[in-house]
Amino acid sequence: MEPVNIGIDLGGTNIQGAAARGDEILSRGKIATRAKEPATAVLDDIAKLALELAAGLPIAAVGLGLPGLLDPEKGICLIAENLGWQDVPVTEVLQEKLQAPVFIENDARVAALGELAQGKARGCKDFIYITVGTGIGSGIYIDGKLLRGSRWCAGEVGHMVMDPRGEECTCGNRGCLETLASAPAITRAARKAAAYNPESVLAFVRPEQIDAAAVFRAAIIDKIAAEIVDSAMTWLGIAIANLVNVFNPELVVIGGGVSLAGEELLQPIQIAVDNLCLRVQKNTVTITTSALGDRAGVAGALELIRQNLG
Ligand SMILES: [Zn+2]
Repeated sequence: MEPVNIGIDLGGTNIQGAAARGDEILSRGKIATRAKEPATAVLDDIAKLALELAAGLPIAAVGLGLPGLLDPEKGICLIAENLGWQDVPVTEVLQEKLQAPVFIENDARVAALGELAQGKARGCKDFIYITVGTGIGSGIYIDGKLLRGSRWCAGEVGHMVMDPRGEECTCGNRGCLETLASAPAITRAARKAAAYNPESVLAFVRPEQIDAAAVFRAAIIDKIAAEIVDSAMTWLGIAIANLVNVFNPELVVIGGGVSLAGEELLQPIQIAVDNLCLRVQKNTVTITTSALGDRAGVAGALELIRQNLG
């Protein structure tokens, strides 16, 4: 029985996974993340999903993307705000359960790797992948190498402070990009607007039914929803323009749940880049959405195994 590799993408809402042999995907699976439960429950679920995907075949190795700050050398998740995790020995726990080597990396950096291996960033040396969903993260590639930082935490673009007097962020600061352009930020803004604008279609649904996907759908016909989307994407555009000026990438790929809203969301981002970027940077950068959508994380997790095992 030839062994399989397992790629897992742990998100705040779902855990997605796939079993693969070489480039061939043998099975895919998706379960809900029990984000309110302790880390042990979530790691249990990950191990069960991995075994289910392997379907009785031996597991050669596991690649895992996690939404938090990690120490990949020690295999520890130092902090994951959206899961309430602190100093969780992820690698040790999973290796014990699955009896196979486990490699971990931040989820945005893993998705960037997926985009590099199989998506629009193929062949690019200088590119930035930004994922916009429950949180906002990135993987920044310079000269073909991931920018890691001194403690593996480079790329936390969601916590760039855009408005120091803005709303409180999960990190404790105020006015981070995440408080202005993430899916929860769009949801919050829409629920607030619905209460003050009885003519908006947003006011005709129960507040708990409003989520970012509903706001994007409503924006096609509703002025208030369109303004909320425009504001969030403009903040994202301002952040991207700053990153483009600093890092001079040839490509910026936007992934994550919010990118599934489609190419229209690129317009306010492109306007911000046109207005705010320096001439050389502006004329040589392409802004696009991910071709892999929400599969970039699993593709990257499988690639992480290849990178580690060669
Ligand atoms: Zn923050």
